[in-house]
Amino acid sequence: MGMDLQVDLRNKVAVLTGGAGVLCAGMAEALAGSGAKVAVLDLREEAAEKVAQEIRATRGLAIGVGVDVLSKQSLESARSRILLELGTVDILINGAGGNMPQATTSPERSFFDLTAEDIRKVLELNFMGTVLATQVFGEVMVKKNKGVIINISSMAAYTPLTRTIAYSAAKAAVSNVTQWLAVHFNQEYSKEIRVNAIAPGFLITDQNRYLLMDDATGEATPRGQAVLAATPMGKYGRMEDLLGAVLFLCSEASSFVNGAIIPLDGAFSAYSGV
Ligand code: NAD
Repeated sequence: MGMDLQVDLRNKVAVLTGGAGVLCAGMAEALAGSGAKVAVLDLREEAAEKVAQEIRATRGLAIGVGVDVLSKQSLESARSRILLELGTVDILINGAGGNMPQATTSPERSFFDLTAEDIRKVLELNFMGTVLATQVFGEVMVKKNKGVIINISSMAAYTPLTRTIAYSAAKAAVSNVTQWLAVHFNQEYSKEIRVNAIAPGFLITDQNRYLLMDDATGEATPRGQAVLAATPMGKYGRMEDLLGAVLFLCSEASSFVNGAIIPLDGAFSAYSGV
């Protein structure tokens, strides 16, 4: 992993939705590396089990669970299994999310061509998936009066990115609900539950590679060039660049950090372009 952060998460149980994805699989490994028992939840059950298997082979206890974050029933049956096999839930990372080409404008797909169904899918996955998983696993935290929840926002939440209409709105909603949940949990249920978000800058992954890099040549697309020009550090982020903040938010080092949205973006969000 190329980093050696001293965060002690022994005896903690971490649940990650979208845990088979690029970012959350890396986070799951980092959390396990700090001693946490890990539940890797993903719609792609086999991929989730593969991530868990890798962790069991190298780091410690992990289970893979097939889950649809848009189904409360599916989340509840995952919770039953986690409580049975891992005992509790201390940390929830709401990582299931992302964009879809069908909900993105392009020369071939104008704003007027976008279907309600495709726009709704992206809004629901990012926003509703975060809210429902927080209901299901937050309940366990409320009972024990302790917990850490981390949502995943995006640069698209601060100022919308061109083309990604639904994703930008969805991530703005994720940032907004992060603040709402932090306040609500403290006011109504527990002063010991913290809800924060990370807002990663631009990383190259499967969901955005087609926008940032030319498939054939591997060269930056004009959009990719624009991203790099707008990132004062002049490079894309790597999954590893997110792990320090995630471990920080999971640990007591961040005991007074609540309702925060932390940009991990090489100063993209700080730069006006002038
Ligand atoms: P990814 O596509 O690799 O991972 C997302 C995972 O979510 C996949 O494994 C997918 O199977 C799973 N998933 C999809 N629908 C689901 C559902 N209904 N129920 C359960 N799981 C479901 O994406 P990633 O790049 O690792 O992104 C993880 C999060 O980080 C997303 O919220 C994404 O929007 C956000 N993010 C990514 C970037 C980036 O540059 N990659 C930047 C900012 C934010």
